[in-house]
Amino acid sequence: MRPVPLPDSASRPVVTPLSPSVVYASETPDALDDQYEGRVHGYTYSREGHPNADVVAARLDDMEGAEGGVVTGSGMSAVSAVLLGLLKSGDHVIGGNQLYGRSLRLMAEDLPRLGIATSLADPGDVDAVRAAIRPETRLLLVEAVSNPTLAVADIDGLATLCREHGILLAVDNTFTTPRGFLPFEHGADIVIHSITKLLAGHSDVMLGYVVAKDQALNDRMRVFAVTTGLTPSPFDCWLAERGMLSFDLRFDRAQATAAALADHLATLPGVARVLYPMRADHPDHARAAELLQGQGCNMVSFELTGGRNAANAFTRAADGLSFAPTLGDVGTTLSHPASSSHRALTAENRAALGLSEGFFRVSVGLEDPEALKQVFTDAVAAATTG
Ligand SMILES: *Cc1c(COP(=O)(O)O)cnc(C)c1O
Repeated sequence: MRPVPLPDSASRPVVTPLSPSVVYASETPDALDDQYEGRVHGYTYSREGHPNADVVAARLDDMEGAEGGVVTGSGMSAVSAVLLGLLKSGDHVIGGNQLYGRSLRLMAEDLPRLGIATSLADPGDVDAVRAAIRPETRLLLVEAVSNPTLAVADIDGLATLCREHGILLAVDNTFTTPRGFLPFEHGADIVIHSITKLLAGHSDVMLGYVVAKDQALNDRMRVFAVTTGLTPSPFDCWLAERGMLSFDLRFDRAQATAAALADHLATLPGVARVLYPMRADHPDHARAAELLQGQGCNMVSFELTGGRNAANAFTRAADGLSFAPTLGDVGTTLSHPASSSHRALTAENRAALGLSEGFFRVSVGLEDPEALKQVFTDAVAAATTG
C-alpha cells in the first residue's frame, strides 16, 4: 500500500498522541548515524524506546526528583532490571523480609540459580541488616512500607549503613508513592515502582519504572531491559499517563479515607486490631510520622476476631468491594494474605508475621467515605454474628 503522509497541522494535540508504530523510518544512513551517535533524538524500533514510554518516564522522573528513568512492562520487570541488570554471579544481595511475593521468589530461587547469593533481613532493624552484610554484598532492596502489616523501614538508618559499606540502596516505592515518600531525599540510590498500582490507578494497565541517581546505572538497566525485552507497550504507557494525570487527587482522597476508615474499624466490635502507620497504636508510628511527612497511605490492615469462617462471611457481606489481589484501584479492594499472598507459608510462619485467618489488607479507593464505613460496619457485623 502507498504510504500516506500525516496531514499537516499548525496546531498540536493537547493529549499525548498514541504511537503504536513498532518501526521508525529514517531519511538516510547519515541521519540514522546521527541518531545512534546521539547527535539528534529519534526512534528506531519500539523495543528500544518509543514516545509514550518516554513521556511516562519523564513524568515519573519529575515526581521522584530524578532523571533518566526507565519504563518497563510491569513492576516485576523493573525489579528484575535492578537485580538481574546490575548484579553478577558471585555478588550478594540483601532483601527486606517482607518484600512483595514475586520479589521474594527472585531472592529465593532465581538469583541463587544464577550464582547471586541472597539474604533476607528486617528493614526496620538496622543491626539485623548490618549482620547480614558480607564482603561481596552489592545491593539492599527494601520497601518503605511493606505488605501486609504496613511495617515501616528505617530508611535513614539503612541509607547510612549502605553508604558506609558501599552498598546500593534500592527502594520499591509502590505502596508509598512519590506523594507519600521521596526515597532519593533519604539517601536511596535506586527507586522502583509498579505503575500498575496507584500511579496508573485503574487496574487496567500493567507497567513498571526504575530510576537510579547514577546515570551509568540507568544506562545499564536500560540496555538490560531492551536486550531482554522488558519493554512496555505504547498503549499501556498511554493509558498509564492518563491515569497518572489524576494521581495526586486520587492519592489524597484515598489516604484521607483510609485514615478515617482505620479509626472507624478500631471502634467496631469484632475487630481485634487495626494496622495503619499514621495511627498512634501502630508499632512503627513514630518512624511513619517522620518518613511519610503526614501523608500516610491508602492501605489499612485489620484482623477479625473470628477465623476463616468469619473471613468468608466478611467478604460475602462486603457489598460492592472486590475481594481481589491488587491495590491502588479506584475501588476499594480486599486481600486475605492467608489464602493468597502468604498461602505458601506454614501456619506458624504466618503467625510469626501476625497473619491470622481473620487478617485482611484493604486498599482504600475513592468511594464516599461515609458509605464505605457503613459497608465495613455491616460486613464486620455479618462476620461476627455469621
Ligand atoms: C504489585 C507490586 C509489584 C509488582 O508489580 P507488577 O506491576 O504487578 O509486576 C512490586 N512491588 C510491590 C510493592 C507491589 O505491590
